[in-house]
Amino acid sequence: MVGLTRADAEAADAADPLAPFRDRFVHADDRIYLDGNSLGRLPLATRDRLQALAAEWGEQLVGGWPAWIDAPVTAGDAIAAVIGARPGEVIACDSTTVNLYKLVCAAIAARSPRVLVAERHEFPTDRYVLEGLAAREELELRLAGAELELRRGELVVLSQVNYRSGELRDLAAVQARADAAGATVIWDLSHAAGAVPVGLHAAGAELAVGCTYKYLNAGPGAPGYLYVREDLQDTLRSPIQGWFGQADQFAMERDYAPHAGIRRFLAGTPPVMGLAAVEEGARLTAEAGVAALHAKAIALTERMIALHDAWLAPLGFTVGTPRDPALRGSHVALRHPEAWQITRALIERASVIPDFRGPDSVRLGVAPLYTRHVDVHDALQRLRELVALGAHREFDATPGRVT
Ligand SMILES: *Cc1c(COP(=O)(O)O)cnc(C)c1O
Repeated sequence: MVGLTRADAEAADAADPLAPFRDRFVHADDRIYLDGNSLGRLPLATRDRLQALAAEWGEQLVGGWPAWIDAPVTAGDAIAAVIGARPGEVIACDSTTVNLYKLVCAAIAARSPRVLVAERHEFPTDRYVLEGLAAREELELRLAGAELELRRGELVVLSQVNYRSGELRDLAAVQARADAAGATVIWDLSHAAGAVPVGLHAAGAELAVGCTYKYLNAGPGAPGYLYVREDLQDTLRSPIQGWFGQADQFAMERDYAPHAGIRRFLAGTPPVMGLAAVEEGARLTAEAGVAALHAKAIALTERMIALHDAWLAPLGFTVGTPRDPALRGSHVALRHPEAWQITRALIERASVIPDFRGPDSVRLGVAPLYTRHVDVHDALQRLRELVALGAHREFDATPGRVT
């Protein structure tokens, strides 16, 4: 049983082995930030590293490239440590959307699937990539419901943690089913990396993508990453033949031949600043340890659900996230018919930052590196007071451009 008082939350913070990590981030004000699953906080180490890199650029100019050019691999290896991959299996580049496009194309060319499958409630960009490629390649596209059949000839894109409900899938079990059936799975780890154990290599996962600006705290627009299991790398080709994926990049007169290993999935010049932020963010995550992060994610979401049951259920809220902690990532969706107005009121009247995910969820992320138990307690107390008073009804009911 989770204690519901503020003293209980303070005691949990006092006993939290990850508590010191909070001071490794910038806290510009005392707003309660519960949106680290959308854009993580800025680590102090990253701020320093970016300043140093700007100075390097200023001083070294083009002479800096020998030190910068391997950044996609260095950052990829730092991510590998967080998602249970081996060095050389992950490369940081492009956006998650573009990386997904590259891997879906590569898998279509290598495996000739009949059907592309996404979940109906999958993050939109993943569905859009599959829709576009299904139309171009004249393949069937299936949007799956709760029941996920995995069949031979299917190429399936799956999130380990769903962006809206926070539901956590058993990656190893699904991968084993896919392998037995002869289906190919591309995992999207965007809402999982840095919050829950991923264990790609142990599960024998073949392909994965993810982003770095959520729980990995790499900052707005930081590059994403892709994973290809070691033994498959030289059997797959990127649909974008660029000079950074070329076997001998500076032999410029030669025809294209893909680089051996993971580098063949690079296309053009890497975003060096963003990659430095990826490396720092992933290092900090690895230092904390994925098992400790997951344990804290469970403790924080358990507290949130307990406080919801005591305070918010009587006000018309329901929990849109699995109650079994084994089936949950590091955010909780609280559903309410006036979720948009409640989200606005939380931000503008209560200094609590969640986000809204349509049609009816207030999404509360508890990034375990820097969110405290008292943050969860205070945020839900303010939420209760505000909705009990009807303060959210003063806000326009029409969602804005960025939610
Ligand atoms: C956040 C997220 C993305 C982000 O894609 P970008 O190309 O970085 O904008 C993709 N897929 C899922 C499941 C996400 O949660």
